Amino acid sequence: MLTALTKTGKKICLGFDYKKETLMSLRDKEEFVCPVCRETVLLRLGDQRIFHFAHKQSSQCRELYENETYEHLEGKRQLFQWLIKQNIASVLEYYDRNIQQRPDIMFKYNGQRYALEYQCSTVPDKVFTKRTNTYLENGYTPLWVISSSHLHQKRKDLITLSNFQYSFLRTASSGRLYIPAYCPEKQLFQLVESITPFSIKNSFAHLSSLPIQTIELDSILDPQNDHPLSQASWNREVERYMFNWALHPRTEHKPFLQEIYNKGLNIFLIPLEIGLPVAHSVLIQTPPFIWQTYLFVDVLAHKNPQDIITLKEINTSYQKRMHKKQIIVRHLPQVKNVTPFIAMIEYIQLLEKLNFLNKKGDTIFEVQKKIQIPHSNREREEAKQNFLAKYENALSRW
Ligand SMILES: [Zn+2]
Repeated sequence: MLTALTKTGKKICLGFDYKKETLMSLRDKEEFVCPVCRETVLLRLGDQRIFHFAHKQSSQCRELYENETYEHLEGKRQLFQWLIKQNIASVLEYYDRNIQQRPDIMFKYNGQRYALEYQCSTVPDKVFTKRTNTYLENGYTPLWVISSSHLHQKRKDLITLSNFQYSFLRTASSGRLYIPAYCPEKQLFQLVESITPFSIKNSFAHLSSLPIQTIELDSILDPQNDHPLSQASWNREVERYMFNWALHPRTEHKPFLQEIYNKGLNIFLIPLEIGLPVAHSVLIQTPPFIWQTYLFVDVLAHKNPQDIITLKEINTSYQKRMHKKQIIVRHLPQVKNVTPFIAMIEYIQLLEKLNFLNKKGDTIFEVQKKIQIPHSNREREEAKQNFLAKYENALSRW
């Protein structure tokens, strides 16, 4: 850890730039105690590691707080210095005795109190959720920042994200959803933005790199950029994923394949309009092509031109599929006040944009034309070429 108290109660915070000589003379005349447990701690001033305080072997605190890697210590030190340079009231390793939690940095900004947690090691989902909820219930806005070393970019526009990484997903005041990351070695923030998953783990996303020297807190709390998605590359990945899924079906995929087969559908002949990207699909863990297929077989397939579709019907289908665990929403501890159902609404709005539906009221749509099921691969391919020629870059509005 980077903070300790002297016997007289003076706080020493190594987040500030101390010279080694200063600390050495301080160590000669002072004894230090841990601000949490009040046990004696030692000031370590080695050349290998960053200057820090350490508990004695048997301490309980040691187990709780001291599995700190160099990366973690250095990361939170840099983040602290970055905040104080912007004149933002910040406390490093702030211990809140009421909730018995110690965020890496507590800071106050625009009338809000933030708990910044810079996370280099994985924590169990239960712990992550409990800490986050405790912050929220006690007037803190949690700001979890993941170590960049946890990010696995597959390609410039593709990233693999696990459930743990998805826990870092947070909402900007603009409503945009993103994951903040930091790399102390490169002194670089990385924001995973415009996250549009096509499978449980794989997602289109844009990774922005922002050097800490030039970036201000606002850009991290409220990123403003949208990164449009190419419809053609989206389509290519969805198709590859879908076909692979059908060719090597896992046990848990079989009921889906069986159901669509019984309804006269073939996964290789799913129309292009099923499996489209929408802004909030990240809230749903089930791949878009699956939940959109369910919506199709439950609601859209039965409708003819001039028929009415209501959001209530869509919601009934969604609830039923959730109940059967055929649609699973993501567990996102930091994302509150937004229902995953919004993704379904966005999909319906997209179909309106594509002239399949006509808006009749806030929750009512009229069918303009039916989604056509191709009868052969050739037919599907032709439909695809027409679709892409018409809508390249026009669909994604995030
Ligand atoms: Zn302690």
